[in-house]
Amino acid sequence: PFELKGKTVFVAGHRGMVGSALTRRLAQEDVTLLTARGELDLRDQAAVFAWFAKETPQVVFLAAAKVGGIAANNTLRAEFIYDNLAIAANVIHAAYLNKVEKLMFLGSSCIYPKLAPQPLREEYMLTGPLEATNEPYAIAKIAGIKMADAYRSQYGCDFISVMPTNLYGPGDNYHLEYSHVVAALIRRFHEAKLSGATNVLVWGTGAPRREFLYVDDMADACVHLMKVYSDSAMVNIGLGEDISIAEFARMVASVVGYTGAISYDTSCADGTPRKLLDVSRLTALGWRARTSLEEGLALAYRAYLDESKQAAE
Ligand code: GDP
Repeated sequence: PFELKGKTVFVAGHRGMVGSALTRRLAQEDVTLLTARGELDLRDQAAVFAWFAKETPQVVFLAAAKVGGIAANNTLRAEFIYDNLAIAANVIHAAYLNKVEKLMFLGSSCIYPKLAPQPLREEYMLTGPLEATNEPYAIAKIAGIKMADAYRSQYGCDFISVMPTNLYGPGDNYHLEYSHVVAALIRRFHEAKLSGATNVLVWGTGAPRREFLYVDDMADACVHLMKVYSDSAMVNIGLGEDISIAEFARMVASVVGYTGAISYDTSCADGTPRKLLDVSRLTALGWRARTSLEEGLALAYRAYLDESKQAAE
């Protein structure tokens, strides 16, 4: 196993939902955390190279990315491919130049073909066309995975990749249009409850199925894999079960305490019909999720209330 103890660790993207969960989780390890203070723009190659040369991290979690829900991905197509390609290329190459001992690249379940068999096994990547709404983001993530693998095979770098399913929890983005479905529905049902609205609109048909993992479980899985895993093959990180958007909407309504009607705006895109990860590789490596969707949603709703209170102060 890889010894994390005593190492200097850089979490790229520590202000994001995943990076801040990783920072919380790493506080329980005996490590020195490096976070890029102020404005290190990970898209800026010269700045990233200079930062790595100065700070010389030994371990890197590459959790920085430009992310968003289905509307953001589909609208900001150029930004999603450029920002994510630049971040992956700069950080992975800087890690190689500065002899980082181990790096973990965080991908996304949208790298799998739109119509791949379910549950999604790691080897299905690049076996078919991608879902159109998030193709630019997925291509950038696939490039990052292939980079990590190429640096392992040519230079012997201990770089690994993990593929999280849809994540949610504290630090999520609650933007009305650009958020992911969990944050969007928590906010919409909460605001409907407050205003006394009697109907809430959910995008699409309600038929797509998604898997949702609580972000602190994701961070725990990442730390576990950093310690025990070293191979070119990537590893899926998920809960192992999925739910339809319609069932999910009812669950969010119940957690939030909204009792009105729910209807569907079928003019909105459904995206991929189903996205459930096969987690047998992860399970064989000795990890499984702890937080059920009901428990995680209750925690996420509490975090949303705290974060919106703080934002208002
Ligand atoms: P995806 O997994 O990449 O498609 O990401 P999203 O979290 O954005 O969307 C998941 C599913 O939830 C899609 O089928 C959306 O159409 C559906 N959905 C329903 N209501 C909303 C909403 O208010 N916001 C978002 N982002 N998705 C929604």
